[in-house]
Amino acid sequence: MLRVKALMPAPAACIYAEAVRTLSESGRGVAQRRRVRVSGIVQGVGFRPFVYGLARARELGGFVRNDARGVVIEVEGAKEELDHFAAALVEQAPPLARIAALEESEIEPRGEREFAIAHSAEEGERTALVPADIATCDDCLRELFDPQDRRYRFPFINCTNCGPRFTIIRAVPYDRANTSMASFEMCEACRREYEDPANRRFHAEPTCCPDCGPKLSLALEDVVSLLREGKIVAIKGLGGYHLACDAADEQAVARLRERKQREEKPLAVMTLQPDKLVGLELEEEALLRSAERPIVLVRRRVDAPIAASVAPGNEWLGVMLPYTPLHHLLCADFGGALVMTSGNLSDEPIAFENEEAEHRLGAVVDAFLSHDRPIERRCEDSVVRAAFPLRRSRGYAPMALPLPVSAKAPLVATGAELKSTFCVVRDDQAFLSPHLGDLDTMLAYSAFQTDLELYLKMLAVKPELLACDLHPDYLASKWARSQELELVEVQHHHAHAAACLAENGETGPALALVLDGTGYGTDGTIWGGELLRFDLADYERVSHLDPVPLPGGEAAVREPWRIAAAYLERAERPVPFADWSRVRESLKVNAPLSAGAGRLFDAVSALLGVRERISYEGQAAIELEQLAGHVEAEPYRCREEDGRILGADLIACVHDDLAAGRDRAEIAAAFHEGVALAFAEACARAAEPKTVVLSGGCFQNLRLLASVRRLLEERGFRVLVHSLLPPNDACISFGQAAVATYSVR
Ligand SMILES: [Zn+2]
Ligand SMILES: [Zn+2]
Repeated sequence: MLRVKALMPAPAACIYAEAVRTLSESGRGVAQRRRVRVSGIVQGVGFRPFVYGLARARELGGFVRNDARGVVIEVEGAKEELDHFAAALVEQAPPLARIAALEESEIEPRGEREFAIAHSAEEGERTALVPADIATCDDCLRELFDPQDRRYRFPFINCTNCGPRFTIIRAVPYDRANTSMASFEMCEACRREYEDPANRRFHAEPTCCPDCGPKLSLALEDVVSLLREGKIVAIKGLGGYHLACDAADEQAVARLRERKQREEKPLAVMTLQPDKLVGLELEEEALLRSAERPIVLVRRRVDAPIAASVAPGNEWLGVMLPYTPLHHLLCADFGGALVMTSGNLSDEPIAFENEEAEHRLGAVVDAFLSHDRPIERRCEDSVVRAAFPLRRSRGYAPMALPLPVSAKAPLVATGAELKSTFCVVRDDQAFLSPHLGDLDTMLAYSAFQTDLELYLKMLAVKPELLACDLHPDYLASKWARSQELELVEVQHHHAHAAACLAENGETGPALALVLDGTGYGTDGTIWGGELLRFDLADYERVSHLDPVPLPGGEAAVREPWRIAAAYLERAERPVPFADWSRVRESLKVNAPLSAGAGRLFDAVSALLGVRERISYEGQAAIELEQLAGHVEAEPYRCREEDGRILGADLIACVHDDLAAGRDRAEIAAAFHEGVALAFAEACARAAEPKTVVLSGGCFQNLRLLASVRRLLEERGFRVLVHSLLPPNDACISFGQAAVATYSVR
């Protein structure tokens, strides 16, 4: 038997050519039969019709079928034709297919002349990969707007190249019976297309038409009128509901914010004409138009015709193109840009079931645009910026990321609390969940349990090992501790570092700068301004930001001025905030120590009058970064004593310059450069190893990221950053999985 393993079609092609040669040399005579097993993303991407077409073109006999591990082909005919067939299988594979492995063996010929698509086999280990949801393709779009087409304006049009996948699949193999389309019986016309090998809908599992497909709950023209009147409509999408309103209507957007209990966090916008709203670089344009269709964070145009409250105080705007036929119809009919934000309250998990949505969103919206195709699993929109994702969800999940080592046993890593995700590992493949939201409510906790169960079922994984955060109170950690399975508890910042290292395919040792807001340290204090020396198994805390008390604990996170006050006292500077004398009392009872770098940014933001109170996580730091812009300034200096980086030195500089009347943007810039320099010099003192990984929410700050990187490279370090995973806590589950996989071998 031959076994060929590669990740992508291209490299597979060359290895495969060799395999084919070897097989040819052992070939005997003309009539041969071969059995080919293909694994990877080969279901739901038009692979069987493609194989069928190849076999028919060469007049080969045999069959192709899906099974729980992928696709099995038996093919019979002249040896040369079989060789060509085998090579073409890899070289011409459909664009959405990802061949992970090919196994080929010669079997007894049966004299078969016909080629067929056989029914799926259910037996065997279930390891087929489920594809992600794919944005409506150009061919379907043409039909959607063609009055002559029988699917003209049909909001559920799809084909083998596009449409829902991950969000409608109940179990593998990917057949209609295993999707939420099972209850829609195909009409005659659809069935003819489905069974016609020459048709684009040949074995397109979710295919349907106005006669046999799902129905909308409300006429589109009524929805468009409501939106024009400034109403808020809940719209059922691929992985859940959106809340939609006219993005140009200030009152509508303000009402949406009020009802959704979301004061200032930016809202995403869906539009057919992104150029009107944002200035697009080439890379951003490519991301926007990719089959994943994420929300892309782009610099907004000053003259963008949208309400100010869509993204107050923010230079960036999250834009996306329509990605389902329903969206395309809506955007085309409505004309302008639509706010399309997740159907939830603040940071709860997105609503995805009809009844649940009506219950939870009833008070928020004026109308529901729903339909009767059930969503099998929740999946929010992904959010990316040119360099890295901020939320890896719809369009990407459940695409696997490779781990640098193979797991001894299947495992589940439960992630952190904010921007939470979990991660399921089978062999060396890490399947990251879609974005779950903040896991700090019972609603979110039960969503975590439901989603994990669905995910394990889909992947056919029974975990034997668990990994979780050290934090005593994280709900996901509590869940992990309550299971009777072997458990690896991973320190938060070690998980960050491991995520970045493993994402880059390495196991260490390396240095790590992990700058974020909050993470539970082994000494019971809050860490988050960390220089670690580590590998995937273990770590050592080399140096860290000098911790300061957070007056009032959690309250200090919402009110950065409290942190500024604590830092000013540490820096022996006067505190200008009126409430300080009262709040200072809390230092005696509730003032946990925090070394979080995010808190240092919060403090400076408050000092500069940018933001004394925040309404969403990271707001103060984001606005401080905007204030610094591209202003050049010499870095502030900051000492290190006994492995403690004295952040209060930076605060003293900020205070003194502010008192001297220096420009605030310059101060913000000098502070950014000061933080970068302090940590780069800490790395230089640590000296070895010569590789530094950068992770943590603070590295969503592009100015900080660029400066730290430059300063490290000037000091002779090789710098590894995130490009596939978000630098924020969404990467934690992947990092935990990497540590557990590497440690338990
Ligand atoms: Zn299509
Ligand atoms: Zn039909």
